[in-house]
Amino acid sequence: MRFRAWLSQFMEGRYGQDNLSRFLLPFGFVTFLIGYILVRKIDAGFFRFFGVVLYYLGTVAIFWNLFRTWSRNHAARRRENERFLSLKQRLFSGTKRDYRNYRYFSCPSCKTMVRVPKGKGNIRITCPNCRETFLRKS
Ligand SMILES: [Zn+2]
Repeated sequence: MRFRAWLSQFMEGRYGQDNLSRFLLPFGFVTFLIGYILVRKIDAGFFRFFGVVLYYLGTVAIFWNLFRTWSRNHAARRRENERFLSLKQRLFSGTKRDYRNYRYFSCPSCKTMVRVPKGKGNIRITCPNCRETFLRKS
């Protein structure tokens, strides 16, 4: 079988990339590389230990990223992505999000974050970016 055909068949129905994976991939590689260099250059002490930790952290990030990208459980991966985005938001831009009055969902099709007013029950949300509609409890 041709590689392209094999690849498209392999990727069919799989989750693919999102905000979390776009973070995990460079994070994993950089962490792994720094850890690898430290372990190679330093024989003992704190920096060697630090290197070992980075090395394994990078490895875990890379494999977790692969697992997520190839996963067929889209709902679970989307929840992780939403958690990642809200954590990022809280860490880096403090008060931009209003969790008291709104809920935030990522579009199942293009993964854009969509904000909806809280407490309206089950509602059909239309993505402002790609016009995909999906049901969520607000
Ligand atoms: Zn969308």
